[in-house]
Amino acid sequence: MKRSKYTLRRRALSFFRVFTVVIILSVLFVGLGTTMTARKIKRDIEQSLPPIRDLDHLEDKRITRFLSSDGKLIATLFKENYKPVKFEDMGDNIKNAVVAIEDARFYQHNGVDYRSVARAAVQNALAGRIQQGASTITMQLARHLYLSDEQSYERKIKEALLARKIEQEYGKDKILERYLNEVYFGAGSMGIGAASSRYFKKTPDQLTVAQAALLAGLIQSPTYLNPLTNHRGARYRQIQVLTALRDNDYITGQEFRDSLDEARQADFDELTPEAGRPLLKYPYFTTYSMKKAIDAFGEKKVYEGGLTIRTTLDLKAQKHMESVLTEMLGRYGGSYGVNNGAAVLIENKTGHIKALVGGKNWRSGDRFNRATQALRQPGSTFKPLLYTAALERGYTQDTLLNDGEVKWVVKDGNKTKVWKPINSDGREKGKIPMREALRLSRNQATVDLAQKVGVWSLLDMAERTGIKSELPRVPSLALGTGEVTPLDMATAYSCFANQGTFHEPTVLTLVTDAENQKLADMSHGWSRQATSPEVAEQTVDMMLRVASRGTGAAAFIPGLQIAGKTGTTDSFKDAWFVGFTPRYTLAVWMGNDDNSPTRHLYGGDLPARAWRKMMLGLPQGRQKTFDFLATTPVKRVYCKKSHRLKGADCKETYAETFRAPAPQTPKCTECKSTKVFDVNIGEVELPDPLQTRPDYPQARPVIL
Ligand SMILES: [Zn+2]
Repeated sequence: MKRSKYTLRRRALSFFRVFTVVIILSVLFVGLGTTMTARKIKRDIEQSLPPIRDLDHLEDKRITRFLSSDGKLIATLFKENYKPVKFEDMGDNIKNAVVAIEDARFYQHNGVDYRSVARAAVQNALAGRIQQGASTITMQLARHLYLSDEQSYERKIKEALLARKIEQEYGKDKILERYLNEVYFGAGSMGIGAASSRYFKKTPDQLTVAQAALLAGLIQSPTYLNPLTNHRGARYRQIQVLTALRDNDYITGQEFRDSLDEARQADFDELTPEAGRPLLKYPYFTTYSMKKAIDAFGEKKVYEGGLTIRTTLDLKAQKHMESVLTEMLGRYGGSYGVNNGAAVLIENKTGHIKALVGGKNWRSGDRFNRATQALRQPGSTFKPLLYTAALERGYTQDTLLNDGEVKWVVKDGNKTKVWKPINSDGREKGKIPMREALRLSRNQATVDLAQKVGVWSLLDMAERTGIKSELPRVPSLALGTGEVTPLDMATAYSCFANQGTFHEPTVLTLVTDAENQKLADMSHGWSRQATSPEVAEQTVDMMLRVASRGTGAAAFIPGLQIAGKTGTTDSFKDAWFVGFTPRYTLAVWMGNDDNSPTRHLYGGDLPARAWRKMMLGLPQGRQKTFDFLATTPVKRVYCKKSHRLKGADCKETYAETFRAPAPQTPKCTECKSTKVFDVNIGEVELPDPLQTRPDYPQARPVIL
């Protein structure tokens, strides 16, 4: 038979019904108009009504998608799953089913169905509370679009008034279209488009009568009636909808029986309950990207704007680093008493964060991102910043430091405190060149250097290389007692790899809106020269030795230049290896979340090994050596006693190689039988620490 939504079965109104309607209507509307308070209430309500929004514009809530750097979908963001569908694309079955079960007189009333209002009013009065809604489709839409969900007579009246307004401005088709796009069908599906694809992998016009009946039935109680969890309840409701379809002449008796058969055979087991939820792969990386996107575009635009956001994520690198961290902690964490870690990978030339591992297990419910949020002491990984500050002031790799007793008197109000740092091996090496002090991570020599160049110059360098956390202005900062994130450490080191250029680390690149128009290209964050190329080259040259024959030798990879630094903090609470190849900077941190000490975990151990394993799985490209360093190193022979160039009388010597320009260093004078002092140079040349460095903005000196 021809299904017509306009032909509704007429039912004779019984005398009782007419009587009730008259009574209720007079109470509701005539009554409101006759007393002063009631008139005031009505006026107040009318004045507080929100303006009717444009119903024509369907697509104001869309899915924002996050893509990896090679265009794979890694995450989606939306309030609920939503696929807008136009009225003409919905097919008749779902329209008929929804009208039949939710509002059979939809095509007759003008927004408010007074018959149902009357019926509901009587029932509510009998029940003593608001039990039955009697909401028409238009009223439900009005509530959904403009009002809260609270149950009150005031809201009910507002709903009715708004429904009247909507009906005055829009046709029934437009109202039903918007309703079917707004209504929630459970399982994360908002609107019929999302629901059809969620439950049946179909578009709405492909739904059978039975399927349409099931979906229409869900509207009443989408969570409770979810067919995935309450199969019987959903089935029962489906039969109610089919009955309503038959009773309202939308389907014939035969179609009714066929649909019942179809409903009986339907199977929902194959549906995955997760399908309606937002996608969130590589959550440490993606949640950080979402935060950055919200910072840049605002929450509303990111959640509802249907943006496509391409990120810097290298899927392979991310998976690989995640598995290395989990495996290393799983296999060795127990014996070292360490339970967590983090790793950040930055591409040097671009500042792009290619991978970000914020912990070992997001799925366990632990959502703390150690890579970007954990503030931990960097220990000796902070030292290269101080050595770079010294190089800026004219110090060289050969400048001699005192790895002996070093005292720092600190003023604390009226009192003074004496700080006497010691080396981790408890020994002193006496005078030692800067390059050796860094390679062997000597604490006392480093504090000697900090006294010479000042803590303020270290603070200044930290700020210029991208350390964002608040650092304490204390002498021990030179040994890494300030707190930083792994991301900040990777950022700072990438400046050295980049010949002194700082790139703001970025995760977002190209952002387009729902119409595929370019919103922003964030591929190139801002950058600046943090230190001169000449200085950065000297730092890199010094750090190369750490991974080849220093404390970070466990990170060594034959055939690939690696510059880096280990870090181990007081009582073994934090262990780091931060290092870079020509292409990447990678920071690895390990420690316990409660800041309890590990069992003698050194940065040169598990972190350096994890670093090596991670780096081995990454594509390094053709460039295996730093292009700004000499391919053939300059070799020099030094006197072991004076650490000056070997003279004719020096007995014990050692060789040193330089890939950055070797420093100007005089010959040894100590080993001559008669000491000769060069009048121009003196015994040991030390540049003037107050020499101002050119070009860079000066930070304010800190008085300690
Ligand atoms: Zn000598």
